[in-house]
Amino acid sequence: MKLQSGNYYWPTTFPEAPAYPSLDENISCDVLIIGAGSSGAQCAHYLKDTGLKVAVVDKRRVGEGSTTTNTALIQYLGDKMLFELVNSFGEDMAIRHLKLCEEAINDIEGAANDLDIASDFKRRDSLYYASYPEDIEKLEKEYAYLQKHGFQAVLLSEQEIKEKYGFGKYKALYTYNDAELNPFKFNHALIDGAAKKGVAIYENTRINGKKLENNQAVLYTDKGHSITAKHVIFAAGYENLEFRNEKNSVLASSYAVVTNPVDDFSSWHKRTLIWETARPYIYMRTTLDNRIIIGGFDENTANADKRDSKIISRKEKLIKECKKLFPELDIHAEYYLGAFYGGTHDGLPLIGEYEEFPNCYFLMAYGDNGLVYSMALAKILRDVITKGSHPDLSIYQR
Ligand SMILES: Cc1cc2nc3c(=O)[nH]c(=O)nc-3n(C[C@H](O)[C@H](O)[C@H](O)COP(=O)(O)OP(=O)(O)OC[C@H]3O[C@@H](n4cnc5c(N)ncnc54)[C@H](O)[C@@H]3O)c2cc1C
Repeated sequence: MKLQSGNYYWPTTFPEAPAYPSLDENISCDVLIIGAGSSGAQCAHYLKDTGLKVAVVDKRRVGEGSTTTNTALIQYLGDKMLFELVNSFGEDMAIRHLKLCEEAINDIEGAANDLDIASDFKRRDSLYYASYPEDIEKLEKEYAYLQKHGFQAVLLSEQEIKEKYGFGKYKALYTYNDAELNPFKFNHALIDGAAKKGVAIYENTRINGKKLENNQAVLYTDKGHSITAKHVIFAAGYENLEFRNEKNSVLASSYAVVTNPVDDFSSWHKRTLIWETARPYIYMRTTLDNRIIIGGFDENTANADKRDSKIISRKEKLIKECKKLFPELDIHAEYYLGAFYGGTHDGLPLIGEYEEFPNCYFLMAYGDNGLVYSMALAKILRDVITKGSHPDLSIYQR
């Protein structure tokens, strides 16, 4: 799958990223993880201390899948609004999901702080503004649920938004304790930490065949070697869909730019993450070296050529959107891209278990908070593999 096109910022921030060998023999392990992107790395992180023999394989280099283009806003509120999740799944399940996301952000922070490679994790608040007057009511509903269940948030009036940011928006939900990080470094930090605890990592190793039986799985690589495993986690990102289609998944295209470094962020209150109620939405964050990442203008296409034909026009539009909010900033796009972007129809990520794939789990952290979802799902999968179950598994198996 041609996951993305363009020129990418994150790899330039870590040119000294470690390299790993490709697999050149037959091996066996307790758990094979297919994919060394952030979700495979999160699984390796959780499994590294279990005493199990774990191997990770990737057909590319570590972090060179969708993780390379992840804009890495770390948030617990997602694409599907909370009140919509409540309508679809009931209040208990929707709130439990949100609490798991909050816990996952804490776990990401814990891992980022513990590991040897710095991931540039930083707590940030989020400004979630109403794009249209009719969306004010949606934000009020969102706020009521957040308040009721102990999430830290306030509603900002038009006047308060103006005072803090200088731009005019009808109303906004201001949430506390979200975050940002460098997803490429985080990916490497997790893989490096797992490798140091004995997890075997193989790059440039494509899985292209399988023999799945009830007592073991045998996976075959493009170089003709076999990997025999008791359990397999498919953490191949959107390319999981090449192994097995999932009818709840939906693939679209998204766009992002990274600007030149900016001298002065004094008009950008606390360098919050900024997003909006429009769907598809535009979002923004800043980086450690004072750039702005602007993303959005999603297109409903899973055709790489169609996606890529719009990269240049989207680049200009994204810069324009940022300038509408912050006209004083002298910015241009230094990096820009188009990428496939996956979600689910019902708005929650998935752990797939299928009859024709015994002993296999498909981790599909699809949605705008993919990195947060995959942290939560990887933790659940650790318990499913080591203890046989997890009380929250059913939320993600629908
Ligand atoms: C433009 C964009 C912006 C985003 N912004 C955000 C955001 O702000 N916040 C957020 O939380 N999430 C965001 N996401 C989502 C986030 O990028 C993903 O959730 C995350 O990167 C997915 O990681 P992954 O490991 O599942 O997939 P990947 O990074 O794609 O890793 C999967 C790996 O599997 C490997 N693989 C595939 N097939 C095989 C095979 N046959 N054999 C061996 N290896 C294989 C691939 O090479 C790849 O390295 C964004 C995504 C995009 C595209």
